[in-house]
Amino acid sequence: MDKLKYERPYIKKLTAGAMNKFGSLSGPQPFKFIDNVPVKSLVEAYGSPLFVISEKQIRRNYRAAYRAFSTRYPKVQFAWSYKTNYLNAVCNIFHQEGSWAEVVSGFEYQKALGNGVPGNKIIFNGPGKSKKDLLLAIENNSLIHIDHLEELGLLLSLCDGLDHQPKVAIRVNMDTGVYPLWDRFGFNYENGEAWRAVVKIVNSGKLQLAGLHCHIGTYVQTTTAFGVAASKMAALAIKCNTELKQHIEYLDLGGGFPSTNTLKGAYLPGTDTMPTIDDFAEEITGTLIRAGFENDDLPLLILESGRLLIDDAGYLLGTVLANKRLSDGKLATIVDFGVNILFTSFWYDHQVSPADDYSPTIENTAIYGPLCMNIDMIRESINLPLLKAGDHVVVHKVGAYNMTQWMQFIALRPAIVLIDEQEQVHLIKAAESLEHIEANEHIPRHLK
Ligand SMILES: *Cc1c(COP(=O)(O)O)cnc(C)c1O
Repeated sequence: MDKLKYERPYIKKLTAGAMNKFGSLSGPQPFKFIDNVPVKSLVEAYGSPLFVISEKQIRRNYRAAYRAFSTRYPKVQFAWSYKTNYLNAVCNIFHQEGSWAEVVSGFEYQKALGNGVPGNKIIFNGPGKSKKDLLLAIENNSLIHIDHLEELGLLLSLCDGLDHQPKVAIRVNMDTGVYPLWDRFGFNYENGEAWRAVVKIVNSGKLQLAGLHCHIGTYVQTTTAFGVAASKMAALAIKCNTELKQHIEYLDLGGGFPSTNTLKGAYLPGTDTMPTIDDFAEEITGTLIRAGFENDDLPLLILESGRLLIDDAGYLLGTVLANKRLSDGKLATIVDFGVNILFTSFWYDHQVSPADDYSPTIENTAIYGPLCMNIDMIRESINLPLLKAGDHVVVHKVGAYNMTQWMQFIALRPAIVLIDEQEQVHLIKAAESLEHIEANEHIPRHLK
């Protein structure tokens, strides 16, 4: 066959209002209601900015994910990743649906206990468990997932004199074909470190190695990485059984499934490019079922999905403060929320919609927050109608990580409301006040 003729690439800037291969560039539709509650009424009642969480959407997400796995595999358990969003109201929705708790700090462990989660349904992950944390976890029969040898040593020393063996797993890291490797947590699979930890635990006679855990990354965009992880975890579990006569009750494949947010720099929106939870479930469960476990001896499959289950259930409502022209003529809109409460705008091009009807004039706009900080940019470039001071906007898919990673920087953190399944609105976290912030401050006498 003749060599194909070289064609020069043709690069054309997309201009607002002009046609391109997706049709004509238009602004977003006005977004006036969340679960039939008017956006305007929410801002009037609770102030701006305001986080809004849809209980309906959380339950829909959870049920879709549970269905994806449980229709393909006989034993499935979800554990809610507290650090993704640990508002108690949110955690309790997941617990009502049947989720256990997955925590990564003593603070989160206390929260899970406070939410009434039985100790044996709390998975304690993370590299920073203190002696006090471990003692509490032992006392409550929780599942302790060991991160490193020092922790294993400490745990073994705490077992002296105990009349039972605490249930543990090790966190395993491995090469799944996604780089850079996430090898800073847990014990490595390829170099034999994970196996040596397993042998040490089993031979100690003081701990029960109940499971194996991995969490291979976050916003993992390929199903094959999970196939690789499932197959390595299964191989390790089978080796425990055959070589050490140690039965592994569960494999915890962690979280890491992407939400449909659009990553910065992505050409196409996340809704079009991310595999669905059914795709991930098919890959993971298919791999486990074919891995060579004795027929009725498949381990319980635990999943710790975070962002997938809540990102699109969260909204941030805000208000336009001003418009200005940058030196190059570009339009900039300043809103009343910044990266201090919308941490994920560093990674995502969040969709922003006007909350009201607007003129048909669309212009490419930069959206800045109110912080006195150059990096306080919500969107570098977005097609928006002309908004005026006082207009409201809605930021979409902000349910994951923002309400736990938000910073108190020059402003107070806003209120959070939940819209329940009957479309009733509940305040689930009041806005901060100056008193909250200063409550723990002390002024030395000579400075009073
Ligand atoms: C953060 C975390 C999760 C949740 O991750 P997502 O990417 O949000 O699904 C699950 N397990 C562990 C151990 C984590 O640290």
